[in-house]
Amino acid sequence: MVAAAPRATVHVGETAITFLPDGHGWLNPDVLFPASAPDGWSTHAAFLDDAGRFPVSIGAFLIRTGRRTILVDLGLGDVAFGIPGVADFRGGGLLDSLAEEGLTPDDIDTVVYTHLHHDHVGWTTNVAPAPNAPEGQRVTGLTFAGARHMVAEAEWRHWAGTDDPVGPHPYAVQASLAELVEHVGDGDEIAPGVRVLATPGHTPGHISLVVTDPAGASPDRLVILGDVMHCQVQVTESSWNFAFDVDPGQSVATRELLLKELEDEHTVLAGGHFAGHVFGRVLPPKSARAWQRGRVA
Ligand SMILES: [Zn+2]
Repeated sequence: MVAAAPRATVHVGETAITFLPDGHGWLNPDVLFPASAPDGWSTHAAFLDDAGRFPVSIGAFLIRTGRRTILVDLGLGDVAFGIPGVADFRGGGLLDSLAEEGLTPDDIDTVVYTHLHHDHVGWTTNVAPAPNAPEGQRVTGLTFAGARHMVAEAEWRHWAGTDDPVGPHPYAVQASLAELVEHVGDGDEIAPGVRVLATPGHTPGHISLVVTDPAGASPDRLVILGDVMHCQVQVTESSWNFAFDVDPGQSVATRELLLKELEDEHTVLAGGHFAGHVFGRVLPPKSARAWQRGRVA
C-alpha cells in the first residue's frame, strides 16, 4: 500500500543527495486538489490508501558535496495535529534520520528553504509551528545553530509580520531568523554545483535547487522540486493545483514549464512530498507524460 517514502540516497557525480524523513501527512485528496473533482482520482487510485486518503512524505533533503553539508527544508518538527476534513500531520523524525547518516545538527553548514510553509520550517528552532502548540513555549535557539539560513527575498517578504497558521510562525521562525537570514535568488550558486532556480506560484518566492557535478564528469542533474509538485500524479495531471497554492495560475504555469525542461534522461527529480519513493524521472510523452521511479547511478 502507498505510504510515506523512506530515507534514500542518489548521487550526481561525487555529490550525494539524501531524503531524510521527518514524518508524514494524510490529506483529503478532493479538498487539496480541487481540480481533481469529481472523479479525477479514479484513474490514480494507486496513490490513495485504503481509507481513500492521500499520503505524503514530509522531510528534508541533505546535500553532501564533500566540503559542504546542506539541508534543504526542515520538515514539520516534533508535532502531530489534524485539520478536520482536510489533513493530519505527524513529524519528529528528522534528527533521527540525520543521525542514521552519521551526522548531528552541528555538521550542517547551510539551511536553504524552498519556501516557508509550516511543513518546511518545523525544525528551525526548538518550537515547532502547530495550531495546537501549547501557549508560552520559549524559543531557546536554532536547531542548526552553526548554519547559514537562506530563503528567497520575495518569500521572506511575503510572510513577514503574518501569523497565518500555514506559514512560518511569528516567533518560532520569523523572529528567530530575522537577524541572520540571507536572501538568495534565481541562478545563485549556494555551493559548488548547487544552484537556485526560481519556481514561483505555490508561494511567491518559492525556489527549487538544481544539483550538478561541479567537476563536470557526470552529465546528470537533480532538481529538488520543493512544492512545484506534491505528487507523481501531477506529472500527468499538471493542471491540478494544490489548495494552498498562493497563485494557482502561476503554479500551473511554473509546473508546465519545468516539466517540459525536465523531460531528459539525465535529469532526476526529487519530490519531498512524493509517496513511496521521492526520486524519479519524467519520461517524454508518447501519448501522455509518465513517471518512472528510479535513481541515478
Ligand atoms: Zn509542503
